[in-house]
Amino acid sequence: MRIVGLTGGIGSGKSTVSNLFKAHGIPVVDADVIARDVLKKGTGGWKKVVAAFGEDILLPDGEVDRPKLGRIVFSDPQKRQILNRFLAPYISSGILLEVLKLWMKGCKIIVLDVPLLFEAKMDRWTNPIVVVWVDPKTQLHRLMARDGTTEEDSKSRINSQMSLDLKRTKADILIDNTGSLADLNENFQKLFHGETGPCQVHN
Ligand code: ATP
Repeated sequence: MRIVGLTGGIGSGKSTVSNLFKAHGIPVVDADVIARDVLKKGTGGWKKVVAAFGEDILLPDGEVDRPKLGRIVFSDPQKRQILNRFLAPYISSGILLEVLKLWMKGCKIIVLDVPLLFEAKMDRWTNPIVVVWVDPKTQLHRLMARDGTTEEDSKSRINSQMSLDLKRTKADILIDNTGSLADLNENFQKLFHGETGPCQVHN
């Protein structure tokens, strides 16, 4: 089975590219979905987060208040590191489980959509590695437009990640998403035309 790694920077267009793969019948394992699951009330990840950040981080129904946790870790690199360290093993095993399920279904090609592919060292599982890149100005504007965030907040979120230019150097396949959605679609067709999986998966 071929495991394509899909990564990029925040707001660079990974989800948009991931939707193109899905539209071509190629299953996508989405690390963000798994990262949400590993924080669900009562799970091992939830217990670790409550132990480290206290019950103040919980909503009245006992679920983690994600926006609150996000604000805490985005403003404090040390806390961000603690959270990443706690959750990384749960996320990796969740991803591996999904990959295994797809392998058992007979999929010949799947995509791992992992924003922190390099940081989490999951790039060693994937070949080729696809990096979705945009120029910094476009990235900032798209992020602000999508999330309704200020320039300052968006910049600090961008700067909290490994630089997109460094990720670009690690790409086997670089998708430049600075142009329009039509350009992206065209680029995608050129790169992945005819790549469909034989397995039937509804993403
Ligand atoms: P995150 O890391 O935050 O999940 P992402 O890399 O998945 O972000 P997307 O959500 O796919 O990024 O794209 C960011 C925003 O830019 C979205 O609002 C999306 O619709 C828009 N967008 C993506 N590609 C283009 C494009 N080529 N032209 C215009 N808008 C685009």
